[in-house]
Amino acid sequence: MSIRLFRDFVCELTNLADQGSGEAEMLGAARPMLSDLLARDTWLPDEFARPNENFYQQYLLHCDLKQRFSIVSFVWGPGQETPIHDHTVWGLLGVLRGSEVSQRYEMNEGELHETGGLEILEAGAIDAVSPTIGDIHRVRNGRPNKPSVSIHLYGGNIGAISRHAFKGDGTVKDFTSGYSLETVPNLWTR
Ligand code: FE
Repeated sequence: MSIRLFRDFVCELTNLADQGSGEAEMLGAARPMLSDLLARDTWLPDEFARPNENFYQQYLLHCDLKQRFSIVSFVWGPGQETPIHDHTVWGLLGVLRGSEVSQRYEMNEGELHETGGLEILEAGAIDAVSPTIGDIHRVRNGRPNKPSVSIHLYGGNIGAISRHAFKGDGTVKDFTSGYSLETVPNLWTR
């Protein structure tokens, strides 16, 4: 278990943000960094990988002090899925354990349409969302009988951002996701 791997990731992201990197630069530069983090699954404390039998969990792992980015572990129990939703900021979604299944959508003249087929992301795979590259999707656990864990990086404090959930008929509802725990990992523990 080495939280230092994660701390280094946070530090590199902070440097990128300090350089004034915009969405395209952040998405491009953060992808290989996230890929390295996913390849070394030794750093996520168990409390932040714990499924809940009723709901998928969104554990905040770190939020930049200036809220330029946040990192969240999503823990999916068997059968758990999100509503169809958007993000309103850029995001990188990487699978740490198990698999995640994603369906993308777009809104056209008030109607919601599926775009592309179901994408199955296995451990190590990374997907990207944003208002410029496609921001609406539904995500679920790709493992029928086991939890899956993914690490999501967003271009803002995602738990505090007002965004949208969609019903199949195109009905839109505002929502703010919050986080599943009031604590974050101690980045400074030995
Ligand atoms: Fe999402």
